[in-house]
Amino acid sequence: MTETPVIGNLTKQFDQYYIPGTEELDEDEMRLTFLGTGMQFPRKSQAASSVFVELGNGDKLMFDIGSGSIANFNTLQIPLGNATKVFISHLHTDHQGDLDMLWAEGLPFGRVTPLEVYGPSADYAALGTKKYVENMLDSQAWDLESRKGKVPTSGAEILVHEFDYNKTQVVYDKDGVKVTSFPAVHAMAGAVSYRLDWNNMSLIYSGDTKPNQFMVDNGQGVDVLIHETFLTPEIMANKTGMSLPVAENVVYGVHTPPRSAGMIFNLTEPKLPVMYHAFVNDDTVGPIFDDLRVNYQGPVVLAQDLTTFNMKDGYIIVRQAQVDNAAWPVVPESSAHTELSPSHGLPSYLEDAEVPVPGVNTELHKQ
Ligand SMILES: [Zn+2]
Ligand SMILES: [Zn+2]
Repeated sequence: MTETPVIGNLTKQFDQYYIPGTEELDEDEMRLTFLGTGMQFPRKSQAASSVFVELGNGDKLMFDIGSGSIANFNTLQIPLGNATKVFISHLHTDHQGDLDMLWAEGLPFGRVTPLEVYGPSADYAALGTKKYVENMLDSQAWDLESRKGKVPTSGAEILVHEFDYNKTQVVYDKDGVKVTSFPAVHAMAGAVSYRLDWNNMSLIYSGDTKPNQFMVDNGQGVDVLIHETFLTPEIMANKTGMSLPVAENVVYGVHTPPRSAGMIFNLTEPKLPVMYHAFVNDDTVGPIFDDLRVNYQGPVVLAQDLTTFNMKDGYIIVRQAQVDNAAWPVVPESSAHTELSPSHGLPSYLEDAEVPVPGVNTELHKQ
C-alpha cells in the first residue's frame, strides 16, 4: 500500500512488480523485502515481523523472523545457504517464531555452514538471545538427531552473537556493511532497534518500540525508517474483542500508534518513512492514515508482506513482489557432496515391521 512509490530519480528501469529470480542486483544496489508485517496473530495475508535485505556485494541480512515469515522467504528464490545472518530485535514470538524452521529447512536444502544469530541480552542471562537459541536447539534435539545420516547436518550449528541491549553500538561490521544496535522501549528490557549502513545508504528497522529518543538520535536523515505502527486502540478493540482499556495498554503501553509514528517521522525526517506491524484491511488503512496525519504530512509507505524496496543513486522505488506460492527450494550443487553424520538407525522391532516393496531399496546411502 503506497502513496509515493518512487523517491528521487530512477537511474534504471523497473518492471511494475518485483518477480524474484528475474532481477539481478547492481553491485551498488540494495533490495529490501518485507517477509512479515503483521502482529501476534499470523494470518494468510500477513505473517509476523521480518525484513530481508540483499546488498549488491552479495551480503544478505534478515531482521527478525516472526511466525509465518519463512513461507514468504521461501518464495524469493534465495538458496538457503546464502541466508545465514539473522538479527533479532527482541524475543517476542512474532519476531523470532520461525527461527527454528529456518534452521531446520536449511539442512536438507543446502545450508552447510552455521546460522549466525545476532540479538540482545536482557536483564538476566535466562532472558537473553544466547539462552533462547540454546533452548531452541535443545527443544529440537529429536529433529536434528533423526536427520543424521540421511541429510547433511553440518549447517545445524548456530553461532550466537549476543550484545548488550542497553548500548548504542556496532554489532556487525564487515565488507563495508555496518549494523548498529540501539535500545528500544518495549514491554521489558531486552529489545533493540537496528540501523544498517552500506554504500552511503541507510535504513532503520525499529522492531517493536514506543516512540523514543534513541530513535530520534539514530534516525536523523536516514534513507528508510521502518517504524512499527500499531492499529489505533479503537480499531484493536473493535476488531479483536479486547476491551478498550486493554487495547490501550497494548497500543499505548508498549507500542506506537500511528500519530506517534508520525511524530517520530517528523523528528527524524527520513527520506522514506515506512509503517509496519499493523493489520492491513480495507477498513483499517483509512483510520491508520487519519491518525498518522494528525502529526505527519509527508510521503510514507504502509508495508504489506512482500512489499519490496530497491535503493541506489539516491532513489528508492517501492513495489509489490509477485511470487510463486508453490515455489521450490533453490539448492546449490555443492551441498549434495557434504559428508553425512552417523545415523541413529531404528531398533530391530521397528526395522522388522517394515513392509518390503520390490524396487524400493531402503538402505541408507553413505556419501
Ligand atoms: Zn514485541
Ligand atoms: Zn511485535
